[in-house]
Amino acid sequence: MNLLLMGLPGAGKGTQAERMREKFDIPHISTGDMFRAAIKEGTTLGIKAKEFMDAGNLVPDEVTIGIVRERLAKDDCGKGFLLDGFPRTTAQAEALEQILADTGRTIHFVLNIDVAEKELLARLTGRRICRSCGGTYHIIFNPVNVEGVCDKCGGELYQRDDDNEKTVATRLQVNIRQQQPLLDFYQEKGYLRHIEGSQHIDNVFKEIEEVLCQAVAKENK
Ligand SMILES: [Zn+2]
Repeated sequence: MNLLLMGLPGAGKGTQAERMREKFDIPHISTGDMFRAAIKEGTTLGIKAKEFMDAGNLVPDEVTIGIVRERLAKDDCGKGFLLDGFPRTTAQAEALEQILADTGRTIHFVLNIDVAEKELLARLTGRRICRSCGGTYHIIFNPVNVEGVCDKCGGELYQRDDDNEKTVATRLQVNIRQQQPLLDFYQEKGYLRHIEGSQHIDNVFKEIEEVLCQAVAKENK
């Protein structure tokens, strides 16, 4: 099963990716992990990527795509893979199509975890931190017993500047704009499946499983 996972920040991609990796025994390949591994192994492309990163520059597409190509050629991708964070642009998506075609493979599904913007904002702005002990809470996912007060030490809770609504809303808009062309690209290819991400995480995973059962059926044909 060759899969791609998409979703805006706060949609719960990480949690679902972890579950998918466990259940379906396919590697979860995130861009960050891929870069770190290539750098650690000291591959030619890894060394190149590190030079750009050390200089504070974006890693150019040709290097990133090369690293993806090498990663997808590894043995553990024989049963499939779950790509996360790549591609980011339609140019990268075209390159990925080519990489897979070169090795007689194709993407089966692109799963997009859909969560309404309003809910994402609530999720992304909900973090609260204790001034005294640094304990972290979340007003939705991990609330305190008494509002504004740390459960562990009684300290005062605050919201980090990066978590304020204006900053988060701007960041979200950038992501929405970047994601749209990719969604269109995969919609046209017929790979795209929308997963309702605002439900309980167990039910989100159930929906993913249903889609993946189709993928297995497709593969066995
Ligand atoms: Zn505290």
